[in-house]
Amino acid sequence: MSQMPPSEQIHQQTLRHPVAFVGVGLHGGRKVSMVVHPAGANAGIAFLRKDLPAAEGLIAACWRNVVDTEMSTAIGNDHGHAIDTVEHLMAALRGCGVDNALIEVDGPEVPIMDGSAEPFAAMFERVGLRSQAAPRKLIRIQRPVEVRDGDRYAILTPAGTPGIRVEIDYGDAVVGSQALSLELVDGVFRRQLARARTFGFLHQLEALKQRGLIKGGSLRNAVLIDGERIANACGLRYRDEFVRHKILDCLGDLALAGAPILGHYQARKPGHALNNRLVRKLFERRDAWSCITMETPKELAQPAPCLNETPRRQASR
Ligand SMILES: [Zn+2]
Repeated sequence: MSQMPPSEQIHQQTLRHPVAFVGVGLHGGRKVSMVVHPAGANAGIAFLRKDLPAAEGLIAACWRNVVDTEMSTAIGNDHGHAIDTVEHLMAALRGCGVDNALIEVDGPEVPIMDGSAEPFAAMFERVGLRSQAAPRKLIRIQRPVEVRDGDRYAILTPAGTPGIRVEIDYGDAVVGSQALSLELVDGVFRRQLARARTFGFLHQLEALKQRGLIKGGSLRNAVLIDGERIANACGLRYRDEFVRHKILDCLGDLALAGAPILGHYQARKPGHALNNRLVRKLFERRDAWSCITMETPKELAQPAPCLNETPRRQASR
């Protein structure tokens, strides 16, 4: 694996070899097999549902394709098909510096694995990355963009080094209020974020299951909070694992921008819906961003479309 921070790589990268994963879907609870394949320069990240007719299964990992953000992020295509819970895998791809990959999945959901991005990141590191001939594109934030929802907000601002600050406040005894700021430089994703697991509250479980959600959830793939204690026998992986996982989710959602974001993200009580609103607003404001490569002199950077902007119809899960 490269020692360069992901956003400072000059060239695009893909995996050296395909890597396979088997797990369960968090919401559907069914076994899922997934293979992450290398892809050509400028291909970006795309999912291919192998359980569907070949012509209908391709879903580009793009902010325009987000169709559901309630408990996780789902993206869909013009055929009405979707793939759910993409955020941890997207965070691992971006955090490890993978620009191009084709992800074959034999069901409607990415396997939840252990509830974190670590199984993905560890396999990407083991198989290694290959540098490609094309320059890496970056989305440079030029003006602040902000979305709000009551006391929750998310903001992107210009910055020379990618960074993130997230605050959460669940008002309970275990998670409570947590905040963390990180510069997203070499090794930070793997050391500080990748192992943070998703989490849930015992008192909410039954209602969610009755709605057909989190059928695959268990102590093997989530931190479970039972009143004032953590139900998992092995406890937490980080003292502030909850805010670290929230940052992981945000990075996964931001990865749907289609290229690394050169800027600073700050949020209070963020969620998948707020993040998608933020990215949509960013791309609506043509003066708020520019598409650059590491070789672009700053004075030449122009607001310009550099990403797949093909419109699509609404899809259902
Ligand atoms: Zn998550």
